[in-house]
Amino acid sequence: MKAVVLLSGGLDSSTVLYQARAEGCDCYSISFDYQQRHQRELTAAAAIASAARVKQHQVVNFDLRTWGGSALTDAQIDLPSDRTLAEMSQNIPITYVPARNTIFLSFGLAYAEAIGAERVYLGVNALDYSGYPDCRPDYIQAMQEVFRLGTKKGREGQEIKIVAPLIEMKKTEIIQLGNQLGVPWELTWSCYAGEEVACGVCDSCRLRLAAFADLGLSDPLSYSSK
Ligand SMILES: [Zn+2]
Repeated sequence: MKAVVLLSGGLDSSTVLYQARAEGCDCYSISFDYQQRHQRELTAAAAIASAARVKQHQVVNFDLRTWGGSALTDAQIDLPSDRTLAEMSQNIPITYVPARNTIFLSFGLAYAEAIGAERVYLGVNALDYSGYPDCRPDYIQAMQEVFRLGTKKGREGQEIKIVAPLIEMKKTEIIQLGNQLGVPWELTWSCYAGEEVACGVCDSCRLRLAAFADLGLSDPLSYSSK
């Protein structure tokens, strides 16, 4: 079975790629260069795709800096740093990119229908402290309706399925799953800052480091501060 996997190069989407592979799918990965400040993740995504021996790895280019509105697409907006997990959980943070997963899933759907894939995998996670609205189960259900009604295949009764295996998992559980699947963590990239070395203080780094620490494991990535 063919499957499209939305691959950011982070811990979650990399785990999902290895999960899709473990389920016997022929994987077609897709990454998005939207001129995000952490372009380093695109290099990671390509490395993970290669390590997982996907059938094809696509990069779609567009520029969301045009209208900004997020710390990930507007370099003038500072990234939150050194926040506790409790602080992260209070509000939808400035690292939220407006409607990003709707954009990504739309490309994923188009790619899937074009190549005859039956599934689109993505690594959204609702328990993640970031609280992004487009990572929640009701959102995924609504997009499944779009997949059904907005495609030729869907109207012909061969609906392309959204698969979001991590949606109800904690970060620690994702790392445990990834360990079972043999995800090469050293190739992944989570940091929002996108320097040569991960910063260790942005929300994404802190979540990742906290989860590895909770498990008593060490993250193989280097950090400039932690
Ligand atoms: Zn960071």
